[in-house]
Amino acid sequence: MKQINRRKFIEKTLTGLPVLLLTPSLLASSCTKRDDNEPNGKTVIVIGAGISGLAAAKKLNEKGFNVIVLEAQDKVGGRLRTNRSLGIAFDEGASWIHGINGNPITTLAQEAGMTTFETIDDQSGACYDIGGILRNATTYDNAQTELYSILSSLKNSGNAAQSFETVFNNLYPAKVNDRLWQFLLSTYVTFDTGDLNNLSSLLYDEGEEFDGAEKIATNGYDTIPKYLATGLNIQMNQRVTKIDYTNAKVKVTHNGAETEADYVLVTVPLGVLKNNTIQFLPALPTIKQTAIQKLGMNCVNKFLLTWNNTFWDNTQYIVYTPAIKDKFNYFVNVNKFNPTANALMTFAYADYARQTETMSDAQVIGEIMVHLKDIYGNSIPSPTNLLRTKWQANENSFGAYSYTAVGTEMRHFDDLAEEINDKIFFAGEHTEADYFSTAHGAYLSGIREADKIIAL
Ligand SMILES: Cc1cc2nc3c(=O)[nH]c(=O)nc-3n(C[C@H](O)[C@H](O)[C@H](O)COP(=O)(O)OP(=O)(O)OC[C@H]3O[C@@H](n4cnc5c(N)ncnc54)[C@H](O)[C@@H]3O)c2cc1C
Repeated sequence: MKQINRRKFIEKTLTGLPVLLLTPSLLASSCTKRDDNEPNGKTVIVIGAGISGLAAAKKLNEKGFNVIVLEAQDKVGGRLRTNRSLGIAFDEGASWIHGINGNPITTLAQEAGMTTFETIDDQSGACYDIGGILRNATTYDNAQTELYSILSSLKNSGNAAQSFETVFNNLYPAKVNDRLWQFLLSTYVTFDTGDLNNLSSLLYDEGEEFDGAEKIATNGYDTIPKYLATGLNIQMNQRVTKIDYTNAKVKVTHNGAETEADYVLVTVPLGVLKNNTIQFLPALPTIKQTAIQKLGMNCVNKFLLTWNNTFWDNTQYIVYTPAIKDKFNYFVNVNKFNPTANALMTFAYADYARQTETMSDAQVIGEIMVHLKDIYGNSIPSPTNLLRTKWQANENSFGAYSYTAVGTEMRHFDDLAEEINDKIFFAGEHTEADYFSTAHGAYLSGIREADKIIAL
């Protein structure tokens, strides 16, 4: 059985090109020293201290700009967020470096001191069906191979108005109620993209990927934003509510205060833009409003459960194929890379993820335990602790990451990245057509916008 990877189903077309084009400037950016430019008298306000905002702020700061970062929360990192309350680094947002070769996060992780573990485990995963029946590895592998083949051709049968789910169900009705297939679609497609009933049947496999191993952060992904934030002027607990770019100087309203700047870089997530929680004066151009509306924002929630002792398979992943799709259907064995942690991490996606946000901790534990008891028997102990996320309700993102919903066109990512009047700039994972929905995409978008402002 192959490992479950976000973005791994995507065909490796053109993969080498962006790597070759991007790497030199990225290396240069991460090696640039603070004093290579004198102060230039220009002020930039960066809204949001996620990885995109921090990458831009660091580079602009190094180039002599007066940079002020306004962050709504009391810590940096945004969706690179680590909860260490149980003594285990539980990453609530990103966990993996997706493809380490040429990936700017690989270098950053080394510089920042983020430790990682390679999650390869061909043939070492355990996959269980309802009733605790171990699924045959060959059947699993064959279904996975067939899935890759379907994913390489399904778009030929779709049209712009149809969702992935509609086209798939029409073409493969026998797979609609097959639990193994529902599991594969859930973890290989929904996790990677978004709700299948709203995922574009034409653009479900868009985006580039880096080659090389998948590595999971072991001491916390927030190590990287903390490193990038060093020495920057970051004002925490500052929620921006208005950006007025009517005059030469841009006025930014945050917590009742107003700060002026020559340039403003907006890095708030797509979900925040969709919710119109920031007022733009004048209103954003129609082309940008359309892009905000058309792109999808998905929901993925993560759950960490701890026990006094392990009772599960000593494999990297434990897979379960439940009757309800997108529901706690695989477990990352944290003990594999953190031997002192008797913990499993599991996931919910799309509508089921949103549903979990209305459930109490006891209800969530109860539902997860139904799956684990089905595999390992009724005598397994209850967990000692639960940590969980609620990304849909989170007012700092209103969702997990962007995806190509029905109605999306790839130019919408570029429309989101388009600057206004050489004064208002936009970064964030949702502005990076090649690498949207990832930590590296967000980082690259920050560098891209910093370069634009520097070029002015
Ligand atoms: C559950 C989950 C799993 C993921 N898994 C992976 C993975 O394994 N690998 C991977 O590469 N990527 C993964 N990602 C995606 C990755 O985390 C994001 O693409 C990336 O962190 C986004 O960075 P960003 O700078 O664009 O946005 P953010 O990190 O969201 O930063 C935006 C910042 O803006 C702030 N903000 C919002 N509104 C305001 C306001 N009004 N005023 C001021 N500040 C504001 C927010 O608080 C936040 O700090 C995952 C994401 C999630 C949620």
